[in-house]
Amino acid sequence: MSKIVDQEGWSLELEANKSTKEIFEAILESRNFENNISLYDIAKLGLVLEKWYQLLPSIRPFYAVKCNPDPFVVSRMVSLGIGFDCASKHELELVKSSNANIENDVIFAQTIKSNRDLAAISNLSVKYATFDCVEELRKIANFGLPNLKLVLRIFEIDEKAILSFRHKFGAIKTDWVNIFEEAVKLGIDIAGVSFNVGSRVKDTNAYFRAIRAADEVWNLGEQYGFNMHLLDIGGGFTFQNFENAAEEINRGINQYFSERKVQIISEPGIFFAETIVSSCFSIVGKRSRIINGENKVDYFLSDGLIGTFSSLRFYSDIIPKPILLGRNRGEGQKVLSTLYGPTCNGLDKIVECEFEDAEIGDMVAFENMGAYNQALATDFNGIPMASNTKLYIFEQDSVTN
Ligand SMILES: *Cc1c(COP(=O)(O)O)cnc(C)c1O
Repeated sequence: MSKIVDQEGWSLELEANKSTKEIFEAILESRNFENNISLYDIAKLGLVLEKWYQLLPSIRPFYAVKCNPDPFVVSRMVSLGIGFDCASKHELELVKSSNANIENDVIFAQTIKSNRDLAAISNLSVKYATFDCVEELRKIANFGLPNLKLVLRIFEIDEKAILSFRHKFGAIKTDWVNIFEEAVKLGIDIAGVSFNVGSRVKDTNAYFRAIRAADEVWNLGEQYGFNMHLLDIGGGFTFQNFENAAEEINRGINQYFSERKVQIISEPGIFFAETIVSSCFSIVGKRSRIINGENKVDYFLSDGLIGTFSSLRFYSDIIPKPILLGRNRGEGQKVLSTLYGPTCNGLDKIVECEFEDAEIGDMVAFENMGAYNQALATDFNGIPMASNTKLYIFEQDSVTN
C-alpha cells in the first residue's frame, strides 16, 4: 500500500503500482481540489538511487537542489545518504534544516559567490566549493575562509547538450597554471577538479573528454603541491542518456583515475527530480475550427510555460504527453490538438499532439514534471501557477505521523 497526503492532514490510501491516471482519478474522486496538483512520489526516490548505483557504484550523487528544492524531497534524500550541490545561502539553509551534515554532505557548486554566500559558507562550515578564476580566489582570500577547500571547475562542454553552459563557467587550459600559482601565493587549498558538461547531455563522450582533462589538471595540481583528492563530474543526466553517460564515465575513470586515491562525486539534478513528480491541470477553454479542411482543436489549460511547464522554455527535447482523466476516457478517437497555457504570452504553448476529444472542466495529467518546473513557476499574469497544491506519496511503512 502507499499513502497520499497533503500538508493539511488529508490522506488517501491506495494500492501500490497504480498508473498515474488511476492515482489522479482516485484523488479527484475523493476530494475537490481548486488548484492544479503536483504529486510527489517520495517513495520512488529510493528506486532512482538504486538505478544510479547500479551503473555508477562508486560515485556518490550530490543532488543539485535548484532543480526542485522541495523540503520533503530533500529530507528523504538525507535519509537515503544522498549529498547536495548547493549554490546559495538559502539552499544551504534548506539542506541544513533537513538535517544534512554540511561538512560531509554538501558541495557549494556556484563558482561565483556573493558576500552573503561567503558568510553562509563560513557560518555553516561548508568544506568544499567550486571556483574557476583567480579573481574568485582573491575574493575568497580577502574574505578569509581558511578551512574551505576549493575545487577547480574546468571548461569542457557537450556542444550538443540541450542546455549547454557555453562559456559561462569553467577555467580554460591556458588559465590553469595561473590559478595554481595564485592559490599557492594566497595560501588557498585546492582539493580537486569539477566540470559540468551540460544539462540533458546528448554527446555523452563529453564526460570522457572532461575526465581526461581533469587528469591533466590533477597532475598539475600535484606538481604545485596540492593534495588533490576530489573529482566532481557534475550533472546532465536523464533516464534516456544515463546508460551511455555511465559507460563513458566508467571508461574515463578506469583509464585515468583507477590508480589514484580519489573520492568521486556527481551533481545530478534532473535524474533524481524529473520522474518523481506528476501534475494535473484542468481544461479552462476549448476552440474547434477547420483549417485547410482539417479539424483542429485548441485547448487552454490552467497552467503553462510560465508555471509548471517552465522547463519547456529551456529544453526543446521535452515532449509532454497529456493523459486525459476520467473513467473510460483516453481511449477514444484522437484529433490533432494544441494544448496552450493560460497566459496572454504567445509562447505559452505546451504541445501539439493527437488528443482525444475533451470538454471544458476535464482534467489532464502529465508525468515526469519534477525538474525545473515547480522551481521556476511564477504567478505571471496574476494566475496562481506557483502555488499548486502539492501532494506526496509515501510508502505506508515510512509514514510516521
Ligand atoms: C544545475 C547544475 C547541475 C545539475 O544539472 P542537471 O542538468 O539538472 O543534472 C549540476 N551542477 C551544476 C554546477 C549546476 O549548475
